[in-house]
Amino acid sequence: MIVTGSFAEVRSHRDGSVGLVPTMGYLHEGHLALIDAARRSHDTVVMSLFVNALQFGDAADLASYPRDTERDLGIAEQAGVDVVFAPTHDEMYEREPLTRVVLPAMTQRMEGLHRPGHFDGVAIVVAKLLAGIQPDAAYFGRKDAQQVAVVSRMTQDLSLPVAIVPVPTVREADGLALSSRNVRLGDEPRRAAREISRSLLLAAEEIEAGATDPGMIAAGVRSRLEDAPGVAAEYVEWADGADLGVPPIVRPGAFLAVAALVGGVRLIDNIHVEAGSDGVVVDRGVRIGETSMLYRREDD
Ligand code: AMP
Repeated sequence: MIVTGSFAEVRSHRDGSVGLVPTMGYLHEGHLALIDAARRSHDTVVMSLFVNALQFGDAADLASYPRDTERDLGIAEQAGVDVVFAPTHDEMYEREPLTRVVLPAMTQRMEGLHRPGHFDGVAIVVAKLLAGIQPDAAYFGRKDAQQVAVVSRMTQDLSLPVAIVPVPTVREADGLALSSRNVRLGDEPRRAAREISRSLLLAAEEIEAGATDPGMIAAGVRSRLEDAPGVAAEYVEWADGADLGVPPIVRPGAFLAVAALVGGVRLIDNIHVEAGSDGVVVDRGVRIGETSMLYRREDD
């Protein structure tokens, strides 16, 4: 496995079709699902490992973001990654970028509203990764549903010749969506956090049973979260994946997203509505059978 901070060196190791998996490290099974999907479809898998300061509005959040490069490189190698692009901040941003990549119509709700500037940071770093690495496809987790929508639209609007491939959310055995931030949850908040996925999975049942009113379904989730001790919901909202507008009815392409603060940790989750052979089906993600590797150390 090659590890480099140079775009030119990544390009020199391109062999056949290239799948890119952008990450900020502290790898878990969610990242592994993206790597697996890329591995199945491409000759060369490139994983980027870069905690992008530009997408953090809050300096404390950036400083406390979990990092363990050595562990990540071991996991990436085992998972079959061919090239890791792990630049320093200065390698990624040789000079302060004067260019902005902004999608105002898609970033004024949900994560964009609660994390001002976040998607400007995401858009420029993803644009740089796509331009510098030139993959045939890039893999993104549906856990960050607004990010998938923004990145897909950016590549379409800029005619970038790359396929953006969404991958279902990977969950722990009790339903909690995997996130590098989960290691910051204490025992009690970790238990409380289960209510986020539970409320969404109940909404998924309602939708598959025929519920179509987005407002009523969101209200049900909101009220369950209000009743959950230790969980403070920031938003419970519907959006259409294509443009992030509010869908008037539950329909394929729409997703229901939640952000909540639990024990001082900000968590997000969502479910996606898709067309099934007989009505709509809901992508709830997939569960892993045991405790995530996030909590397991080599010496455990
Ligand atoms: P991050 O390192 O958190 O920036 O995530 C890197 C990529 O992994 C993003 O495309 C995320 O959406 C994706 N990802 C993070 N958590 C999960 C998860 N639980 N399931 C699927 N994909 C995920």
